[in-house]
Amino acid sequence: MKGRVLIIAGSDCSGGAGIQADIKSVTALGGYAATAITALTVQNTTGVFDVLGIDPDMIVHQATVTIDDIGADALKTGMLHSVPVITAVAEFIKSKSVGIPVVVDPVMVSQSGSRLLQEDAVEALITHMVPLATVLTPNIPEAEVLSGMKITSEADMIAAAHKIGDLGCEAVLIKGGHADGDKIVDILWCRDGDIEGFEDTRIPSENNHGTGCSLASAIATGLAQGMGLSDSVARARAYVREAIRTAPDFGKGNGPLNHAH
Ligand code: PLP
Repeated sequence: MKGRVLIIAGSDCSGGAGIQADIKSVTALGGYAATAITALTVQNTTGVFDVLGIDPDMIVHQATVTIDDIGADALKTGMLHSVPVITAVAEFIKSKSVGIPVVVDPVMVSQSGSRLLQEDAVEALITHMVPLATVLTPNIPEAEVLSGMKITSEADMIAAAHKIGDLGCEAVLIKGGHADGDKIVDILWCRDGDIEGFEDTRIPSENNHGTGCSLASAIATGLAQGMGLSDSVARARAYVREAIRTAPDFGKGNGPLNHAH
């Protein structure tokens, strides 16, 4: 069976985002999810209340014993939290995951406004993780940080994608969900020169906690199953859109998605 995804990311105890959303997405799309946990977050739909970073050696140990035994067809990284975690995970990827696709979700700040990546770690993410990415999946605020430019239009998204591509990733998917308006456009830029726009109408909903994690994991699942990048992105978008459309409306804040559709 192909479809083994090793996820290196943080835990969300409320089950909406992070590792929990990753496992649900990979499983729902027919893949096999294994995890190396980088941080424990204390959070629910209303916010993040505490974060405990896991020791980098412990993170690499989890990932190593998993990949050495079960193997992996794709890797997905999410919340990497700090400079020591980023450098340790980058070393692990360089030494252990030769040849398999790597989906890097450059998680920086939660929807509720909490920092999930320490401020001094942004530079390390750019230096160590971006060049390892088969595809990088920033939302607009993350793409602004990575590209150093303000994004207010589709043309800006394309320009920012070029700039982020110059940082060394193979492809970048800039997600347009944070822009205003009824239309959502995601831009997929690939190193070979291809630029593809994925356009949909916005699904009006407050229940969107964990959409970024779920999308990146769904893309990683497609790549792990042998699908091409464009097809993996298209299936992942359709999966997440349905998960938003049928979300159960749990919690007092931004509720989780429905992964059982
Ligand atoms: N918590 C963890 C552990 C995450 O990895 C992420 C995003 O990747 C979030 C929370 C943020 O999710 P959201 O932006 O949907 O609030």
